[in-house]
Amino acid sequence: MKALIISSDNPKRLGELKTVAAALCTDHEAIVITDKNSVPGSWNKAWVTTESLGANLTDSVLKLANDADYIISSGDIGLSILPEIAFKLGASLTTEVTDIQKENDHIVFTHPVYGGKAIAKYESNKKKICISLRENYFNPNPLDGQTEAENIAVSEKRIELLETSMEEAEGISLEDAPVIVSGGRGIGGAEGFDSLSRLAKLFEGTIGASRAAVDAGWVPNSLQVGQTGTIVAPDLYVAVGISGASQHLAGITNAKIVVAVNKDEEAPIFKRARFGIVADWKKFIPALTEKISRLK
Ligand SMILES: Cc1cc2nc3c(=O)[nH]c(=O)nc-3n(C[C@H](O)[C@H](O)[C@H](O)COP(=O)(O)OP(=O)(O)OC[C@H]3O[C@@H](n4cnc5c(N)ncnc54)[C@H](O)[C@@H]3O)c2cc1C
Repeated sequence: MKALIISSDNPKRLGELKTVAAALCTDHEAIVITDKNSVPGSWNKAWVTTESLGANLTDSVLKLANDADYIISSGDIGLSILPEIAFKLGASLTTEVTDIQKENDHIVFTHPVYGGKAIAKYESNKKKICISLRENYFNPNPLDGQTEAENIAVSEKRIELLETSMEEAEGISLEDAPVIVSGGRGIGGAEGFDSLSRLAKLFEGTIGASRAAVDAGWVPNSLQVGQTGTIVAPDLYVAVGISGASQHLAGITNAKIVVAVNKDEEAPIFKRARFGIVADWKKFIPALTEKISRLK
């Protein structure tokens, strides 16, 4: 059995894909989007390309995917490339996969539905299987060694990238932060996020926000956590002045420890939180920040 993975050169993403490939079979091949000519980790074969647009890569990937039993990718790359690959190969496709279990001869794929309120489990009735992983749900393989790679020639450009605009981002990203201090409507204004930022920095983490805080224009869109924002998986998630709407909770289902600070003891966030503090954040957060900075 053979697995072909398609990945960016982000070691965490590549490691997650290697972990899943290793759980399914022993023959692993990789296509990596990079300008280098080798790929981290040990692969039976590896290819590299600088083309990052799924539509332009499809034909090249199809040729390499013909004899693969599993074609695995994740995040935006997986979602842009795998639907067409699965259709053209007559394979099954499961997207946003958060867990994979081998049960007897069957492989069961887990995929959260209804904004994370329910978990659906799927089995494939096809022999060829495409899987797109949700990022941050699998322990990344450490990727020992390096594999020499061949370059993939992209014969026909179906689409062209005209422009990219990057939002200036400071520090660690929401997806990779081990600690996130998130603020909601209860923060009351943009300046309140400076206070959350001071606490986040002490934890070497970053700040996040509810949609209410983003819609109010207090923080940029890129900080929104939730169903229509970023799905995060930190070790510690501190929700400050956030009520705990289902759409927000959908973004933190994989957070290990949730701490909620809210002045309303009936706020739904307390049902999700391991530790709940019923308090006005304006008193609690500066006192906590002061205490932690003294301990450091
Ligand atoms: C299709 C759809 C998609 C959505 N996607 C998302 C999403 O991705 N992410 C998201 O977050 N939301 C999303 N929402 C919006 C979501 O339904 C909620 O409206 C939103 O999460 C509420 O944000 P909030 O908790 O900050 O605000 P509120 O619900 O208004 O809660 C504010 C909280 O602050 C507390 N508070 C007030 N003052 C203080 C104080 N001084 N100290 C401590 N606590 C205080 C209050 O008690 C209250 O619990 C979506 C909605 C829809 C319909």
